[in-house]
Amino acid sequence: MSSIRVAVAGAAGKMGRETVRAIAGQQDITLAAAVDRSSVGEDAGALAGIAHLGVAVSDDLAGSLRKSQAQVMVDFTIPSAVMDNIRTALGMRVAPVVGTTGLGAEQLDEIRGLCERNSTPAVVAPNFSIGAVLMMQFSREAARHFPRAEIIELHHDQKKDAPSGTALRTAELMLAEPGSVLQEVKDEQPPRGQGHGPVRIHSVRLPGLVAHQEVIFGGLGQTLTIRHDSTSRESFMPGVLLAIRKVLSLEGLVVGLENLL
Ligand code: NAP
Repeated sequence: MSSIRVAVAGAAGKMGRETVRAIAGQQDITLAAAVDRSSVGEDAGALAGIAHLGVAVSDDLAGSLRKSQAQVMVDFTIPSAVMDNIRTALGMRVAPVVGTTGLGAEQLDEIRGLCERNSTPAVVAPNFSIGAVLMMQFSREAARHFPRAEIIELHHDQKKDAPSGTALRTAELMLAEPGSVLQEVKDEQPPRGQGHGPVRIHSVRLPGLVAHQEVIFGGLGQTLTIRHDSTSRESFMPGVLLAIRKVLSLEGLVVGLENLL
């Protein structure tokens, strides 16, 4: 079996280092390149706290993709960098697996077009943990029965976007659910959280947190709370590895880990 050659963009970041560690433990996936604007020249394995992998961090994505003959680019960078990285990868027919959050509908449309023009697939998943995918599925079901819902998402204080991609995706799925009975609430004063249609999203940023979300539904005389906690970044790795293994067999853009399971 030939190994899938993967470049990690954001390899010096928290998720990038976790991804490098996860890839290093796989027989069928090889770390081909590591890209970041920090820690340039350092060995990606040493940065990730494991043995040297002989892959030095570079700040040149296009050059790294070319030299390493990467087939897949995993991106865990920052919202302001991710689109350029995706454009570069797709332009070189390297399939992106994108975990960086903050991508809106317009950007997803652009990625869809780039996938088509370059005949190259891509995966974008705002949350790679199976528990979060189940939380979203259960929330869709509850949206068919409860008229009101609010989301509280809680993350570490280094997170650059708010609300979280997971919270936005949860709200989108709940609203798009056939038979959703969620109702718009008018004239609320003072404003609380950010509105996403009838669903308000509250963002908490504190040291000590990793990634957590509660979806609270309210109805006559009852509430239902669906909560998911990622207590370690390892929780995302089975989903990331699954996406790396599947992306090359997909067509076009696939959004959401639930569509790969
Ligand atoms: P982080 O620790 O800040 O890592 C981001 C890394 O990307 C940093 O090393 C940063 O360098 C680097 N970077 C910035 N611009 C770059 C560029 N143009 N090219 C290459 N590297 C660049 O953040 P994180 O916690 O790992 O999170 C990364 C992203 O993943 C965030 O959007 C977060 O919301 C998302 N996330 C997604 C999931 C999921 O399941 N989908 C789970 C957790 C997190 P500097 O330090 O110099 O800025």
